[in-house]
Amino acid sequence: MVFDGKISIISNETGGKIEKNIPLMKYISNSPFIHDLSNAAEQGTPLLEIGHGLPKVMITAGIHGNELPPQIATIWLINELSKVKLKGTVYIIPFAIPHATMENSRRFKGMDMNRTASKGGFISNSIIKNIKNLNIGNVADFHSTKPGSNPGVESVFCSKSPCYESFLMAEYITGVTSSKIICHDKAGKMYNGALEDECNLAGIPAITCEVVSRNGLVDGKSPERSYLQMKSYLKYFKII
Ligand SMILES: [Zn+2]
Repeated sequence: MVFDGKISIISNETGGKIEKNIPLMKYISNSPFIHDLSNAAEQGTPLLEIGHGLPKVMITAGIHGNELPPQIATIWLINELSKVKLKGTVYIIPFAIPHATMENSRRFKGMDMNRTASKGGFISNSIIKNIKNLNIGNVADFHSTKPGSNPGVESVFCSKSPCYESFLMAEYITGVTSSKIICHDKAGKMYNGALEDECNLAGIPAITCEVVSRNGLVDGKSPERSYLQMKSYLKYFKII
């Protein structure tokens, strides 16, 4: 695999050895790029930039380190995007918290980082600061959900206010993938401190995409389903 984009590190508190996550690594084939990426992840949260120009969109995975399908899907996506000409810039955070990925853990320092995005000093908040600094226009945060939990089904979370485009993005992706749309009227009501909600509240349209897999494991075709959600997100913007 050839990756000719940029890798930067946006936090130096989150580093970990992702290659210690055995169920994850079963789906990622070794290459010079993976070697570079895992070296970067050891130092902190890696941020990849592919393509150039507008629109600028972001894909994040691994805010919950034990949700493996989207973290695998981002690697597949980077591989795919490296081969084609993009109409815009795609920023990808494949492992938001490499330390949590290494430990196959939902939490980092005992906390759920998808509830802390409004508070300075937390990685989810640092991600939002980078989104603002880079003038990224839209964000999709990818997760997995275990059967029988909330939401427990393949789905896309969105809200209609203050960013109506959050709903439009979710409507498009659910139309293409048959994921269920879960729409709230206002951002920040149900999930205060979620990356998606805090982006929407900051005026940056955002969604959360879920596929179904048990925590810490890779069930069925869950990475493929996450990958499909990611590609349809990029197709919404006509980047691919
Ligand atoms: Zn999650």
